[in-house]
Amino acid sequence: MEPHNPQSSDFSSLSLRAELLESLNLLGYKKMTAVQAESLPITLAGKDILAQAETGSGKTAAFGLRMLNTLDSKKYSTQSLVICPTRELADQVSIEIRQLAKFMPNIKVLTLCGGKPLGAQLNSLKRHPHIIVGTPGRILQHLKKGSLNLKDTSTLVLDEADRMLSMGFIDDIEFIIQECPEERQTLLFSATYPEEILKISSSYQQQPTTLTIQSSAKTANIKQKFYHASRDDRLEKLNAILKEFRPESTLIFCNQKAQAQQLQADLIKIGHHALSLHGDLEQFDRDQTLIRFANRSTSILVATDVAARGIDVEKIELVVNYELPAEAETYIHRMGRTGRAGHEGLTASLVLPSEEYRFKRIMKLLKVDIHIDSMPVQLRESVFKLYPPNTTLFINSGRKHKISAGDIVGALTATKEISGDSLGKINILENISYIAMENTSSKAALKILSEIRIKGRKIRVKKLN
Ligand code: AMP
Repeated sequence: MEPHNPQSSDFSSLSLRAELLESLNLLGYKKMTAVQAESLPITLAGKDILAQAETGSGKTAAFGLRMLNTLDSKKYSTQSLVICPTRELADQVSIEIRQLAKFMPNIKVLTLCGGKPLGAQLNSLKRHPHIIVGTPGRILQHLKKGSLNLKDTSTLVLDEADRMLSMGFIDDIEFIIQECPEERQTLLFSATYPEEILKISSSYQQQPTTLTIQSSAKTANIKQKFYHASRDDRLEKLNAILKEFRPESTLIFCNQKAQAQQLQADLIKIGHHALSLHGDLEQFDRDQTLIRFANRSTSILVATDVAARGIDVEKIELVVNYELPAEAETYIHRMGRTGRAGHEGLTASLVLPSEEYRFKRIMKLLKVDIHIDSMPVQLRESVFKLYPPNTTLFINSGRKHKISAGDIVGALTATKEISGDSLGKINILENISYIAMENTSSKAALKILSEIRIKGRKIRVKKLN
């Protein structure tokens, strides 16, 4: 991991207790990572932060050190709470905190996740753990039972907050936050900043400092390719681009909805998994299409600019301009759909002879000089099909039926046939829900969901691809 800034990235530059410096030394953490160097001076002073940091950035130690630095081991109450989206992350966070607390005697860290027997957790709670790390559903269950008391919680951490929201945990989280004292420090970590995160931050944080650790250069990490094409060989060339880069998720732009629909049909005919998004879709179909694309349960989405406005998908490997847009700014807007949240991005454009003036305008606006390539012939040969790695399941239960993401994850992982790691986003809507998972888990999930009852109700389940 790259150190942040050599002058100020020594842990010894912070006022950390000696036991923590000792464990950092033992762990071999020589320099602070960027998120640690930026957040610790603020959090150790007791202030709130809203930090954009992904797994792998060193964020766990960033909040773990903060919590342990002022923890009073002689006080038998829960002083810090970390809420995580999954059991796996909660386990990792607990392990890291225990390692950091190695030289602090008698610190109790308890993990509270679903899928584990309640009895053992009830016993551990009686011993008043200093730090609790858990998933929203199980923490809520203990709060409602009265087995967990958060009245002394001075530091609250929401880890991977965007993921928790997209899994539908918002109501649970709000309930938990309201059980914490108003006078507390709230640290919010999120890989992306959708509007809901900003809403949570403004409702529950006190003048937080916003930390954006990633580079602010929006297009610096996006590679741009242009290829000569004609109306007759456009489809063949698009196929060659897909074959060359083999992206998991591709967004293809057309200028008109008729072209978008036609292209989707052509791609399906070749054997690819493709959906399209255009102004004629009903809201229900539009939402479903977007969810399936975000879940990586379709490989290609063909869209028009107007229809693509609401797309908020973090990881799209490739954006294709099947047609160049009339406005050069639109090109930049399309391109910005890839290379988000620090990922590498790629955009490939087909340029018809009649579109070359548009290409020149784009070059002028971007102040770059890129050549239009001719596609190598060998790339255009042989059959190739894109198929997505994930499946989306649809169930006829939603918020109205009081179903929660925790109920669904609990039901699916209860028999251990499906691991929590293979599950993706869970979107709970008013009357229905969507569940993303790896293809390999879909058969078992279909069987489990078609046989059980959730909240006393039998559910209907359908696979969408
Ligand atoms: P996280 O983003 O919290 O999942 O951390 C990613 C990995 O980086 C974990 O394996 C940590 O043990 C490790 N790590 C955290 N902080 C540092 C550091 N300052 N130097 C080296 N490794 C670190």
